Amino acid sequence: MSLTSLSLRREISDKTLVRSFSYIDGRWQASKSGDTFTVTDPATGDPLGDVASLSASESAAAVDAAQAAFSAWAGRLPQERAVLLRQWFDRMRDHREDLARIIVLEQGKPLSEARGEIDYAASFVEYYAEEAKRPNVEGITSHLPEAEVELWLEPAGVAALITPWNFPSAMLTRKAAAAMAAGCTVVAHPSSETPFSALALAELTERAGIPPGVFNVVTGRAATIVPPWTDDPRVRALSFTGSTEIGRMLYRHSAETVKKLVMELGGHAPAIVFADADLGSAVAESIKAKFATSGQDCLGLNRIFVERSIYAAFCHKFTEATRALSVGPGMSDPDIGPLVNDAAVAKQRAHVADALAKGATLACGGQPHALGPRFFEPTVLTDVPANAAILTEETFGPVAPILPFDTEGEAVARANDSEYGLVAYLHSRDPARIYRVTRALQYGMVAVNRTKVTGAPIPFGGTKQSGLGREGARQGMQDFMELKYVCRNWAEERITHVDQ
Ligand code: NAP
Repeated sequence: MSLTSLSLRREISDKTLVRSFSYIDGRWQASKSGDTFTVTDPATGDPLGDVASLSASESAAAVDAAQAAFSAWAGRLPQERAVLLRQWFDRMRDHREDLARIIVLEQGKPLSEARGEIDYAASFVEYYAEEAKRPNVEGITSHLPEAEVELWLEPAGVAALITPWNFPSAMLTRKAAAAMAAGCTVVAHPSSETPFSALALAELTERAGIPPGVFNVVTGRAATIVPPWTDDPRVRALSFTGSTEIGRMLYRHSAETVKKLVMELGGHAPAIVFADADLGSAVAESIKAKFATSGQDCLGLNRIFVERSIYAAFCHKFTEATRALSVGPGMSDPDIGPLVNDAAVAKQRAHVADALAKGATLACGGQPHALGPRFFEPTVLTDVPANAAILTEETFGPVAPILPFDTEGEAVARANDSEYGLVAYLHSRDPARIYRVTRALQYGMVAVNRTKVTGAPIPFGGTKQSGLGREGARQGMQDFMELKYVCRNWAEERITHVDQ
């Protein structure tokens, strides 16, 4: 049986990268029931192709495969796992353009951003190919007579990975490469908006020689696929990237089997722009922080606080820069592409209408874009009142609210007044102020006078309800490992040795 993925195949030069079945135990599997779902191009609403929608028992079988593969994978030398991960990285680099085009077609982001996402996604595979060899822990000097104490790091077991649609390749490799480097095997559920990217990555693991059962991708309804994983005591770690609402639910469901958890959840990033900042740079960086990924980014700016003495100048320059942004289908490589689905567009409309009804001023945009129902005009709202929904909820789109502040203390308090704590942006040229404010911000990451902070070597993650654990860096691999403490009685071992 084969499913239709004709329009996607037409755009891709290596046609076998376009897969429609789940990848379990090294085999491409349809659902026995024949169930499928259709993936659409956000720019046009046209179908791109159908993908297999697996049942709960088929999803459970993926854990069987991952469990069966676990001891052999965990038992390999880290150097051997490193070679296979490196081969996966090489294949991603070889197919960069096709992988980027798959992202544009199913996710909608501009082509240059999609190419950047593939480089970012591949960088995690390369980084963890290297890190696989160095999961070291410090030794401890014994505190007990005639005893030697040791610490060992061991892979946790089967890891369940659940990933969102906004970075369909990078969010998967950031988890999978770390887990596989640690010696875990993986069952992954990609968002049903963007499954083709994950399936193409699975095809490349096969070409890289990664053994069957080590990396499994299960497509279908999340509410069907994921519960067999949260319920299964053999799944020892669960790593989720997505909304705080679904994260809370998975946290609860994982409690029954006490899994290790990594949660990369929502954000509601503030920027604080002080009067002593370089105004041009603060505007340019804030435009990037707001409108990258068409605003559909967990690091996306959702509140811009500007010191009153430069407020009018900042609003003017920011609005001019926003008006200059190009909007179009991702393949034409504009600044801003379509939003992922109708609900995303409805959220922009609702946040704009709510803010205006409560007294905000519309500086530009504010409407669905003439290009089609999934496009929204880049929008600036000024003087947004404190009770506007946009100041507490993630907008996840191209709407920027700007507000004035009078004192440093007020700016910090308002920036911290959120259930989220992923990233905060700060613009100032005063070193003492930068230190004070950075200390006071309750965020997992703080970007000072810049926007880009991400990369494989840094521990990415948030505080409060933005999540648990970190991804990237050494910490990202250790979250898939268990620490074993061993205490050896030297007296016994000496006696045995002498007796022999
Ligand atoms: P989402 O709706 O929470 O979905 C994320 C994943 O969860 C998808 O794979 C989805 O599958 C699955 N899911 C949905 N319902 C589920 C259920 N009942 N049980 C188990 N799994 C379920 O989030 P999204 O809309 O894809 O992504 C946007 C959110 O992700 C934003 O809040 C953003 O801030 C956050 N995000 C955070 C980070 C970070 O690193 N902190 C990075 C990127 C995005 P289906 O799509 O198949 O329903």
